Amino acid sequence: MDSVELDVLVIGGGVAGLWVLDALCRGGHEAILVEHQSLGTGQTVCSQGIIHGGLKYTLMGRLTDSAKAIREMPGIWRACLDGSCEPNLSDVHVSAGYCHLWRTTSLMSQVGMIGARAGLQTKAVVVAGEDRPVVLEACPGEVFRLDEQVVDVPSLLECFSRRMTEQLLQVDAEGGVEFETSGGGEIVSVGVRRGGRSCVLRPRWVVLTAGSGNASLREQAGLSGETMQLRPLHMVMVRGDLPELHGHCADGAKTRVTITSSRDHAGRRVWLVGGQVAEDGVEMDGASLCARVKRELNEVLPGVALDEVEWASYRVDRAEGRTGGLGRPSGVQVSVDGNVITGWPTKLALGPAIADEVLRRIGPAMADDRGTCVADSKTVLADWDRPKVAEPPWERETQWIELD
Ligand SMILES: Cc1cc2nc3c(=O)[nH]c(=O)nc-3n(C[C@H](O)[C@H](O)[C@H](O)COP(=O)(O)OP(=O)(O)OC[C@H]3O[C@@H](n4cnc5c(N)ncnc54)[C@H](O)[C@@H]3O)c2cc1C
Repeated sequence: MDSVELDVLVIGGGVAGLWVLDALCRGGHEAILVEHQSLGTGQTVCSQGIIHGGLKYTLMGRLTDSAKAIREMPGIWRACLDGSCEPNLSDVHVSAGYCHLWRTTSLMSQVGMIGARAGLQTKAVVVAGEDRPVVLEACPGEVFRLDEQVVDVPSLLECFSRRMTEQLLQVDAEGGVEFETSGGGEIVSVGVRRGGRSCVLRPRWVVLTAGSGNASLREQAGLSGETMQLRPLHMVMVRGDLPELHGHCADGAKTRVTITSSRDHAGRRVWLVGGQVAEDGVEMDGASLCARVKRELNEVLPGVALDEVEWASYRVDRAEGRTGGLGRPSGVQVSVDGNVITGWPTKLALGPAIADEVLRRIGPAMADDRGTCVADSKTVLADWDRPKVAEPPWERETQWIELD
């Protein structure tokens, strides 16, 4: 059986694994990522793609740990997206340069001050009545503009996939990776399998960025899987003749709804609707949740026609490092057990932060005599299958419904 030596094996190709792999390769590490479905399957391709800057975590007027952890991210992403910083993500489609924030009641004027006081890069700027987008014209309260970009997530995954094609390996969904562990809590080697083909990888480090798959991978490696928590969401999609909108409707410290817009393969507009409704909807069936969201949208977006559109929903779990009260972790969560690093980014926007955390633990690439192994790995794995990018939920969904 073929055998390949490596610095780092990354398992799981969502935003975390891809950002980590890219940083490792740029740092001179010999690294490979294995994916058992499609890149971004799970949370990344289901996400709304908002590069949060922390403002929604300061709505109570306090600089929270979550806001502190995320406040540098919009600047880093902006530089990568405009190609002035690595990873160069200038091929990624930016769906919107900013989001809107509005409330159905008043008391909004403090929002701008909160952002400024909290030292956030994302400032909220009041949008004058005549400059409001048409879709928010009838909202009674103030409307703010937040410098939070929205990325088209499939194009982000495509961009990473193009940057690192040679380092990405498709493995089987079942039994695609098998660990050989030492008594000392280290992974000595990883057998990878695709169809009838197998190879043994001998990495110095194994990085688990498999989202909800991290728990079972940890158990497979003889580590506790109880360091993970899952927090479910039930998201709604609306498809049809809709205006473009990216933003949050706030209610106290909560975001009542968060809406982002995409286009499907046929050019139809699709809204993804998350926020509090997606948390509340976990116990509801799809049709009841869609009806609830329609009522909610009629309240928070007066004047927007929703009679001719189609509705669908999807469920997805947020996978995170476990917190005491099972609440949302304030930032990236990374732990080290022997030569195994386990990470959850907590937010897509924190991709750069999880890469930094993982690289800090691994340290710089070591110059040694592995040149021959590296050449071997390129030859051995040259014609291995490469993973595709996952389809977004609006392309996978077949059960769209109409509502009265
Ligand atoms: C509905 C929703 C909306 C969101 N919106 C936003 C937002 O607007 N902004 C934001 O910043 N964050 C958002 N988030 C959070 C964000 O999506 C996640 O924090 C982030 O995508 C997690 O990425 P990940 O790479 O850790 O995991 P995932 O995206 O889940 O990727 C894990 C990958 O590992 C692979 N894998 C699993 N098991 C194995 C295995 N055994 N072998 C090989 N591969 C394996 C999977 O197939 C998958 O490709 C949202 C989350 C959800 C659920």
